[in-house]
Amino acid sequence: MEPILTINNLTKKFGYLTAVKDLSFTINKGNVYGILGPNGSGKSTTLGIVLNVVNKTSGEFHWFDGNTTTHNALKQVGAIIERPNFYPYMTAEQNLKLVCKIKGVEYKKITEKLEIVGLLDRKDSKFRTYSLGMKQRLAIASALLNDPEILILDEPTNGLDPQGIHQIRQIIKDIANNGTTILLASHLLDEVEKVCTHVVVLRKGEKLYSGRVDEMISSYGFFELKAEKHNDL
Ligand code: ADP
Ligand code: MG
Repeated sequence: MEPILTINNLTKKFGYLTAVKDLSFTINKGNVYGILGPNGSGKSTTLGIVLNVVNKTSGEFHWFDGNTTTHNALKQVGAIIERPNFYPYMTAEQNLKLVCKIKGVEYKKITEKLEIVGLLDRKDSKFRTYSLGMKQRLAIASALLNDPEILILDEPTNGLDPQGIHQIRQIIKDIANNGTTILLASHLLDEVEKVCTHVVVLRKGEKLYSGRVDEMISSYGFFELKAEKHNDL
């Protein structure tokens, strides 16, 4: 197995609050790895730490084989941790051309990535005319422009209608099937069950489970969790 991200005994405190507590798990190449937990369980904080936008309190993490600096490793990471933000009066294609310039990527990648997210026929529409789901799909296309080794998504279907949710989940599965590793934070058990191969379950910053999703279903305590707060861990 080829490690993509290794997290060892990671802890993050905000004052007296421990947002992430002694967390360890490893993501290997090809995994679709979920971080599952209710609001405030430390999902976004964990993503922020490994993306170098939040400072850890203690513990460690490393990308790939551990011989790459985080700075260099992050060039091979695509991440969407905020609501998609593009220029409203520019078309989707114009927006992606701008991203290509910034990232030093050839324009020819644009067609390929718009195709993956099903937006090729809408490339000439202005961003402001896009639905929320389309905006999210454009953000995914943008994050894929430099062919990242791993794509990181924080609550990728939040706020979308059922059709939008279904489309995003299908696109994530397609991207994974094409060989890109995925790390996805979600408060929805349903989402993790449908999309992910592996999961770390968090509650108040503490790990309740990590491993394969199919094994989680049969693991001790899982049904208790599920019964306690139906589908919304
Ligand atoms: P999740 O993404 O699972 O909803 P977060 O990682 O955003 O959880 O937050 C975990 C905990 O840390 C929450 O209690 C949240 O209020 C707290 N927290 C997050 N960021 C900060 C911050 N910058 N300052 C203080 N507390 C924070
Ligand atoms: Mg969050």
